[in-house]
Amino acid sequence: MSESWFGQKSRHFQCAVCRRLVTDAGPGLGVCPECLRTRWDAAESVVETIHRGSRERFDLPVRPPAAPVGVECALCVHRCRMQPHEKGYCAVREGTERSLRRDGRHRALLSYYHDPIPTNCVADWVCAAGTGSGYPAYSRERGPEVGCYNLAVFFEACNFNCLYCQNWSFKKSGEAGQAWIGLEDLLSAVTERTSCICYFGGDPVPQLPFALRFSRRALEKRFGSVLRICWETNGSLNPAWIKAMVDLSLHSGGCIKVDLKAWDPHVHKALTGCDNRQVLENVVQIAGFARLRRDPPLLVASTLLVPGYVNEEEVFHLARFIASLDPDIPYALLAFAPQFYLNDFPTTSRAQAEACLEAAQKAGLRRVRVANRHLIH
Ligand code: SF4
Ligand code: SF4
Repeated sequence: MSESWFGQKSRHFQCAVCRRLVTDAGPGLGVCPECLRTRWDAAESVVETIHRGSRERFDLPVRPPAAPVGVECALCVHRCRMQPHEKGYCAVREGTERSLRRDGRHRALLSYYHDPIPTNCVADWVCAAGTGSGYPAYSRERGPEVGCYNLAVFFEACNFNCLYCQNWSFKKSGEAGQAWIGLEDLLSAVTERTSCICYFGGDPVPQLPFALRFSRRALEKRFGSVLRICWETNGSLNPAWIKAMVDLSLHSGGCIKVDLKAWDPHVHKALTGCDNRQVLENVVQIAGFARLRRDPPLLVASTLLVPGYVNEEEVFHLARFIASLDPDIPYALLAFAPQFYLNDFPTTSRAQAEACLEAAQKAGLRRVRVANRHLIH
């Protein structure tokens, strides 16, 4: 998944709005961070053109369909309304005369593997598998569950369009149809050494009904053993689905890891192609449930430190928001690896990582750490 997108490496570009020469960032976003924040009227069309191009290459809808008459999917914030043969933004669903086909309910576009514990999971520093927290109800050991496995389920579709996507190759895999997997097939991958299942991607949201059904079947199969259900998500689901997701993780000892991409709505839109308002509202709801089980934590937040764009100011605002919900919510700051349209960016610098860590602590969070330290330069 480390394929290069641009042939040439470039660490500078001229901002399409203010014409300033920007150093220490590649041209993938086209607009400097200051203009995204303060001159959105001028920046918006530049950003939209980049996102449109990045989707047309993969024959993905350039924006969520909003047919005046059509079938609606209400799984995520986009609420796509599709005419017959029109695909949803995530491309998992397609309109028919009366309903939706392709699937994400009875079968799913996914791949999976067995990840030995301790994993490099975003929450392994606080979760039951990595630390033994919640033993014996939620962990099989008093410490790391060495000898057990996480069943890592990678959903090959997404309802965001992050220009730095670390796993963007999935955009090429859905069309041939070879990756559709049925529930029974995936169930055979759950063994007695499986102590957690983690849904990630892409994102689990567009195929949430499948993940919920599969989780219930897996818990039935391993009834009496520790088997945690965990999610790694952009958090942009329709809030009506939150309780079903939370119930599975709360009772199994798993967690919901929400990746908060940015605080400023325009920086978020530029990075992901989507709004962040519902994401933040969903985090408030999940944090409410998290008070019901503090050990191991139900909610874990993370943010990727995109050089130049997700700086200490962004992190401070995000951290202050999280701390207002509960200062003990764990927050992982992830060092950046250049990928996809931001392939020309440098990795996160030590100075940026340290400034962001300090900003998150200053904002009132008590459990913050920098992950992927091997990428820091
Ligand atoms: S999937 Fe859940 S329990 Fe397993 S390592 Fe990751 S956070 Fe921990
Ligand atoms: S899950 Fe997919 S089809 Fe449904 S609303 Fe979201 S992007 Fe659209």
